[in-house]
Amino acid sequence: MPLNFKPIHCPKCNEKQPQIRKPKGWKEILWGGNTCKNCGCKMDRFGKERK
Ligand SMILES: [Zn+2]
Repeated sequence: MPLNFKPIHCPKCNEKQPQIRKPKGWKEILWGGNTCKNCGCKMDRFGKERK
């Protein structure tokens, strides 16, 4: 399973994303990724914006 262990940053506001977080939904469980708590931007585990 490919994983990215490097810290990622929000593509919009550059907020550093926590490595350990609660997934917001099954898509985040499935794909990894984050929802920025600063601006709400969704991104994948590589820090690319997801629409
Ligand atoms: Zn952000």
